[in-house]
Amino acid sequence: MTPGHASDAAQHRLRVDPIACRAHGLCADLLPELIDLDEWGYPMPPSTAVPPALLPAAHRAVTACPTLALHLTRSTAG
Ligand code: SF4
Repeated sequence: MTPGHASDAAQHRLRVDPIACRAHGLCADLLPELIDLDEWGYPMPPSTAVPPALLPAAHRAVTACPTLALHLTRSTAG
């Protein structure tokens, strides 16, 4: 009913560009709560939204990715 609460409903999701990713595994080191590596060392970010408490760590992992392959996308729920 009341507009303007988009940020409350916003969800952040981690995405990996599989072309750019070089399987360093750095993101999994920085964000082990959310990112597992597959058998080849490529990250498997969760399909669920990043919990707000982990957003700072997720931002750090995105910034630290040496090939800019990790992205945090924001979408509004609903
Ligand atoms: S830090 Fe970047 S390049 Fe390395 S595994 Fe994660 S997404 Fe891929």
